[in-house]
Amino acid sequence: MLAMCFDGRAVLSPDYPKPRCTHGDVLIEVSKAGICSTDLEIVKGYMGFRGVMGHEFVGKAVGGSRLWKNKRVVGEINCVCRKCDMCKSGLANHCRNRTVLGIDGRDGCFAEYVALPGRNCHEVPDSISDSEAVFIEPLAAAFQIIRQVKLTKSDRVVVLGDGRLAQLIVRVLRLCLRRTVMVGRHQAKLEAAEKQGVQAVFEDDFVAGKDADVVVDATGSPSGFELAMRAVRPRGTIVLKSTFATAGGMNLAPLVIDEITVVGSRCGPFPEAIAALARGDVDISALISAEFALQDGLAALDAARRPENIKVLLDVRR
Ligand SMILES: [Zn+2]
Ligand SMILES: [Zn+2]
Repeated sequence: MLAMCFDGRAVLSPDYPKPRCTHGDVLIEVSKAGICSTDLEIVKGYMGFRGVMGHEFVGKAVGGSRLWKNKRVVGEINCVCRKCDMCKSGLANHCRNRTVLGIDGRDGCFAEYVALPGRNCHEVPDSISDSEAVFIEPLAAAFQIIRQVKLTKSDRVVVLGDGRLAQLIVRVLRLCLRRTVMVGRHQAKLEAAEKQGVQAVFEDDFVAGKDADVVVDATGSPSGFELAMRAVRPRGTIVLKSTFATAGGMNLAPLVIDEITVVGSRCGPFPEAIAALARGDVDISALISAEFALQDGLAALDAARRPENIKVLLDVRR
């Protein structure tokens, strides 16, 4: 099968072996996939990953576990052991023996086929298009924030960043807040958020006044965390959605002085994301910047790196 792999550099493999299903696995024919910042980090060496890239997809179950046969599915990315202390205490996403689709020890979805345990799969209702369904995984990660931090309607929440994930985060926060502020660097991206009723501010115009109850850092850079420390109020909360390799030389004293709670936030609940898209609560139509065939995957990665683009999709069936 055709697959886009990372083996020290991103390459297209025309004859990559089709995934083999073990007991309980579902073989999925991938329809569409999405390129995420994590994929771009993997190309820079993040996690030391080797194999088929990609973790955001929608596809059709065509083999393996019969329960799923012919269903249109998306999949949770953490494949877990169900035996370790984390799994047994209900924190399976933190399984100590996990593999993670296209990120850690498991081939991903930038390929014609992908295999995942049936318990990772969720059926996609007909009201959600393939292009929308690709957003379910990152949208779930956005929903994770409101699971971790209890917000009230009047809370002042500032989202730093205007990229792929930040766009989804403001769309989710808007559902439960009177006012959501996005701080970014790109006119078109800020406008996309503004159309969703979000107050969008250029970073140069943003006055960090230590007055936000919650600051979400989705910038993907250590400078975002520094700005978050200046924007959050004493005893406030910083939610970290950025995974950056190092934070060398950063002054973390404000965390202590202002008694800040720092919450790391990763994968989230698929059912909430599916329901929100099915209800039309979250509008992702403005977020798709380009779509490429899988054989043009390398060009798609280049496009995803360009700051003017938000989400780049791969149409695997094209
Ligand atoms: Zn992702
Ligand atoms: Zn486990």
